[in-house]
Amino acid sequence: LVERMRAYGETVFAEMSRLAAETGAINLGQGFPDTDGPRPLIEAAAGRIRDGVNQYPPGPGRPELRTAVAADRAERFGLEYDPAGEVYITVGATAGIAASVLATVEPGDEVVLFEPMYDSYAAVVSLAGGVRRPVPLRPGPDGRFTFDPAELRAAVGPRTRMVVVNSPHNPTGTVLTRAELEEIAAVCREHDLIALTDEVYEHLLFDGAEHVPLAALPGMRERTIAVSSVGKTFSVTAWKTGWVMGPAPLVRAVQTVNQFLTFSANGALQLAVAEAITGEREWVRGQRDALQAKRDRLSEGLDRAGFGVLRPQGTYFVMADVRPLGFEDGLELARALPHSAGVACVPAQVLYDRVEEGRHLVRFAFCKRDEVLDDAAGRLVRAFA
Ligand code: PMP
Ligand code: GLN
Repeated sequence: LVERMRAYGETVFAEMSRLAAETGAINLGQGFPDTDGPRPLIEAAAGRIRDGVNQYPPGPGRPELRTAVAADRAERFGLEYDPAGEVYITVGATAGIAASVLATVEPGDEVVLFEPMYDSYAAVVSLAGGVRRPVPLRPGPDGRFTFDPAELRAAVGPRTRMVVVNSPHNPTGTVLTRAELEEIAAVCREHDLIALTDEVYEHLLFDGAEHVPLAALPGMRERTIAVSSVGKTFSVTAWKTGWVMGPAPLVRAVQTVNQFLTFSANGALQLAVAEAITGEREWVRGQRDALQAKRDRLSEGLDRAGFGVLRPQGTYFVMADVRPLGFEDGLELARALPHSAGVACVPAQVLYDRVEEGRHLVRFAFCKRDEVLDDAAGRLVRAFA
């Protein structure tokens, strides 16, 4: 293994899912739903495969999907992208993020990231030979995680090339406000930075929270690579179908790299998704409302068990402080919990560069059937309360 990747072992999501399987624990670790996405979407994909859509699509993606993605972005946010040249289909958001970083970050360039951070960001910055500059997200008195603009500014220097912004945010569930995004945008404009936005949870918003794409702020469209995907929106995390949107020169750079990583993504799924983007809007809204109720259901159970619950505004995840239970270390607890309580979670500290910031936090996924959430909550209450 190359030296720059030696710090990376098995991902925490894989480790905790394996532990859950070995112990028969309820898996609230890795974020994936336990029910399928909309039936018409699944039937459409199966039908396309049966109809013979089984050879390479164009490298940038099927025009039907690129057009649907651009039209949806224009309708919801007033952001115009040319489907030919400014939208590029990738193998999930993961490949889009990797190709974007590899295409723009030179060895020694610095990348500003908010921590805790989704695990692939750190690894792809390392792959590119970049240097991470983490800015902590910390919970306020209301339990909502946010950043200190002074810490953001202190993280930016002459070698900074990029800022990575994930909102709605995994694992904290924070949905950045327009004012918070404006702080980030101002820094990007002043220092001529590229913004890479990970918007995979853009539809999973609670209590009326609004998703604002960073690219919609003044001076940001021309410097932002926006990434999203279908996994969370349509509850099909195995489909690994995503996209990158940005100004043509940046998308061309991403394409130059990605053509040698995956060349193209699954064509039949792209055609099915192209229809679902407008056809399944009602389903997506229903899913969002169902998830909000699930957030409340699991949060209430965690609270009864004695965790310190930090309420999310979006995503699949709720963060919980283990100190009220008498523990100090979330990693220790996460490794013991499948055995002691029959529930698996994710230790948040592995998503930080500065482990101390998140030592006492664990993440639970609530994208599960109600009876599964109730079973898990009951187990945790019996184990701790
Ligand atoms: N970004 C974030 C914040 C995620 O939580 C995930 C995982 N679901 C991804 C990217 C990866 O998305 P995909 O499955 O489309 O590659
Ligand atoms: N995005 C999911 C999570 O955060 C899982 C991703 C993965 O397993 N790589 O749990």
